[in-house]
Amino acid sequence: MNPFSYQRATSPDDAVRAASTSGAKFLGGGTNLVDLMKLDVEHPSKLVDLTHIDLTRIEDGPSGGVLVGALVRNSDLANHTRIVENYPLLSQALLSGASPQLRNMATTGGNLLQRTRCYYFMDTAFPACNKRVPGSGCAALQGFNRIHAILGQSDSGPRSHSSCIATIPSDMNVALAALNATVHVLGPKGKRAIAISDFHRLPGTTPHIDTNLQAGELITGVELPPPAFAAHSWYLKVRDRQSYAFALVSVSAGLQMNEAVIQSVGLALG
Ligand code: SF4
Repeated sequence: MNPFSYQRATSPDDAVRAASTSGAKFLGGGTNLVDLMKLDVEHPSKLVDLTHIDLTRIEDGPSGGVLVGALVRNSDLANHTRIVENYPLLSQALLSGASPQLRNMATTGGNLLQRTRCYYFMDTAFPACNKRVPGSGCAALQGFNRIHAILGQSDSGPRSHSSCIATIPSDMNVALAALNATVHVLGPKGKRAIAISDFHRLPGTTPHIDTNLQAGELITGVELPPPAFAAHSWYLKVRDRQSYAFALVSVSAGLQMNEAVIQSVGLALG
């Protein structure tokens, strides 16, 4: 493991200031970042610990929905009464992911930023991975790629500098896409809101960049619009075993019904 410094932030503004150092990363639950540091995949120069910041509330959103603080733990979000009753799709997706211990640690903001579980990305013994080492190629194209992308991949051949067929492993993100959520961030240039459909990037020609966050931007919360699909929704997750496994394919679906007539649909594929 590489040496790094550590700073505990006391507020979102303090965290953004602390993260202005080159190579700094935010630390939430640590369930992904710390693993990747141990695997020698991530090498932050500094960790800015967010866990003492008050971003742990689930409260009324500005547009009549719900605002979820970025540090709300996955288990608290999944089991919160407002989420269970009004956004069961989100609760179902969260509870299908990881294990109870991991859900107790993992945060909403961290889940949005989960990195791919591509075997070649997570194992530095494999030299070819455009996401981990830009320009090195893509070992997964001719390797073991059962968990990889069916749609949206970038495939110009295993030696191409831009090929990547990785997926985002998060179940929560697929539900947030169907629910049309908005991600709120704070950065050196102030606050902004990003539609969930614009938050993550397809690999394109820059597979090493996962999201459209700008340098130093901190996720402060996720806003859910007023509930539309509470009565008719489902998260379908197909995986190799029924517990503690990432999805091979997933579907988040919600219907807003007026008697027998469909008023609106929320649909996302993972
Ligand atoms: Fe790396 Fe993407 Fe290829 Fe996996 S699929 S080896 S993450 S470039």
